[in-house]
Parts: sequence; structure tokens; C-alpha cells
Amino acid sequence: MTQGGFGGLKPLQIIGDGEQGMAAPVGASVAAAPSGRTSAKVIIVGSGPAGLTAAIYAARANLGPIVLGGYEAGGQLMITSDVENFPGFPEGIQGPELMGRMRAQAERFGAVVVDVDVERVDLSRRPLHLWAGGVEYEAETVIAASGASALWLELESESRLRGRGVSACATCDGFFFRDRKVVVVGGGDTALEEALFLTRYAREVVMVHRRDQFRGSRIMQERALANPRIRVLWNSRVVEVLGEDHVTGVRLRDTVSGAERDEPADGVFVAIGHRPNTRVFREWLDVDDKGYLSVHEETRTRIDGVFVAGDVHDARYRQAVTAAGDGCRAAIDAERWLAEHGLAEPATMSAW
Ligand code: NDP
Repeated sequence: MTQGGFGGLKPLQIIGDGEQGMAAPVGASVAAAPSGRTSAKVIIVGSGPAGLTAAIYAARANLGPIVLGGYEAGGQLMITSDVENFPGFPEGIQGPELMGRMRAQAERFGAVVVDVDVERVDLSRRPLHLWAGGVEYEAETVIAASGASALWLELESESRLRGRGVSACATCDGFFFRDRKVVVVGGGDTALEEALFLTRYAREVVMVHRRDQFRGSRIMQERALANPRIRVLWNSRVVEVLGEDHVTGVRLRDTVSGAERDEPADGVFVAIGHRPNTRVFREWLDVDDKGYLSVHEETRTRIDGVFVAGDVHDARYRQAVTAAGDGCRAAIDAERWLAEHGLAEPATMSAW
């Protein structure tokens, strides 16, 4: 359940990387948290399913969390329309509505959610310091839940048709392409996995890869190449997504000859990788070889009192429900850490 969706919703950025965010300069005159509070036992960076679930748990444990949620709060579900795999919604739910409900649930128990980007953090001293929207915040514990963003081809036609046949999530949107023809862009494991998943629905899956060999693992390659519903177009780049109000195909350029041609299709799944939103944490926390935050023990990081939840550390599952579960774990770990350090009453399971 990452980015995708078919409600014609405008793509929104999520907090984190400067390339995406429009961070206000430190010291700019921007309103503080609505409550006026700028210090908390728990400050959560990010307001996707991980951040808001952490907020629900932390608020119910009486920790009065502040969520620094980004100017475009809500994370990747804000650009997903139909969410049909989040438990509890048998008829499905729109991504923005689901996020609105999570936020209302967190606020009901006293969480303060501020729609500002975090510009920088200082995790070298206690309390921990964060700057967001020109305001300085202090926290005993921090939960990094700043998510990840799908990479896109950066074509005008791609962003115009996002939610109208262009998606970055087969798990979310494959269902809508029963008996249709779809294109999957990319040659890594994600693209191979998405293509294989889509064969459950689509009558034909055309993989478009810019080179003459895949990057993904051998076993995934073998599976994809053996699948009769998958056809691979090597040495090909998508230079335009075709269609006015819905996808009708892609324009391809041969990367060897430069020749262009159109390939009809009903949907385009872009699977060229994800970028975790780690910019403000990179100086302080370890990242793995893929650039995701490393978790050392449960949800802990190498800095005491700093915890991680959701896609910012998870290159593998990237689902709203796994992120939400992670947010719960991080909040419980933060609460236990606070109790161990005499900064909070030990919570009971009934508080959670
Ligand atoms: P990768 O970076 O591995 O692959 C990205 C693919 O997209 C590459 O084939 C790359 O082409 C292509 N690409 C990148 N940018 C563009 C562009 N602008 N235009 C066209 N094509 C582009 O990302 P993945 O998300 O596939 O995988 C990330 C990591 O997660 C990997 O380590 C992978 O193994 C892992 N993973 C594991 C899974 C599993 O075990 N089941 C499932 C999914 C991911 P090129 O090859 O030419 O660079």
C-alpha cells in the first residue's frame, strides 16, 4: 500500500528530504504548535500510518506526544485512493480518509499534530532538539517515522495521470486491472515482483527496462521470464505516458537506436525504487546499504531514546498495516525507555 491509487488525487509530498519538502528557514516567523507546547516526552517525526499509530499509543500512555507531520501531512496514503487491504474496512476506504481518521484518533487522546517539515535535529544532547517550521522543539524521546517516497520517472504526463492509471503500487492497485494490459517500468526486484503480482489480474504485463539485463535477483528474473503473461521490452525508456484523462499507453524510446514507438496499455506501474526520507537523521543515525535507517534492537537506534518506525527503515514490506504495527512497537519502546529513566510512570497494558 504505497503510492498509487485511482481517485485522481493530486500527489502530495511527505516530510523529510529537502529535495521534496519546502522547508521553512530556521528562525522564520511561523506559528508554534497549536497548543503552544514545544517540548514533549515523545516527539514523532512523520504523520503516515507509523507516526500516527505511534501517536495514538503514546497519547494513550499519557505521554502527550507532539507529531511533526510535514506541511503535506499524512504520508503516501494521501495519494492513494482506494485502500482495500487495511484490516477493518471490508468495503475499502480512501487513503486520505484513513489518514484523517488516524489523526482524529491520535488527537482525541491528546496528541498534538503540527503540519510542519522538520528541518534539522540535534541528537547529541538531552533533551533532544528538533527544528520545524521555524520553531525549536525539545523531546526526551524521538520516533523517526518519516517514511519513504517512491521514485518517479519525472514526466509531466506521468504526474498528470497519477491516480488515473499511473501507480507505484501493484499491491494497492493491481486489482483494478483485471483482464487489462499494463506496463511495469524498472528492472530491479520491485519491478519483477510487481510484474509477477500483476499477472494475477492483468491479461498481459509488459516490462519496460532501460538496459538489456535485469538488476533483480536471479530467482525473480527466472520466474518473470518463465511467466507467459509477462513480455519484456529491453533497452527501452518510457518518454511519455499517453492519454488525456486516463492511460492509453506509453511512448518508448529505444536506448540503442533512439527510435520511438507507442505501446498501448491501460495502466503503468512505475517500480524504479524508493527513497527513504532520512535527510535530517543521516548525520546522527546509521543507515543500511540501501540508505534506510538501521534498527539496532527492536525499534532502537544507536542513539539512546531515538526509535524508528515504518517505511523509513523498511525497504521490504512498505505496507500501511506494517508501518502502523511498527508505530505501535516504537511507542511502546519509547514509553518503556521513559519509564526506565524515571521520566514516565510505568504504563499498564490497559493504557495501551
Ligand atoms: P533497485 O534500485 O534495485 O532497481 C531499480 C530499477 O529501476 C533498476 O533496474 C533501474 O535500472 C531502474 N531505474 C532506476 N531509475 C530509473 C529511471 N529513471 N528510468 C528507468 N528505469 C530506472 O530498486 P528496487 O526497488 O527494485 O529494489 C530495492 C532493493 O530492495 C533491492 O536491494 C532489492 O533487491 C530489494 N527488494 C527485494 C525484494 C524481495 O526480496 N522480494 C522485493 C523488492 C525489493 P538499472 O538496472 O539500469 O539501474
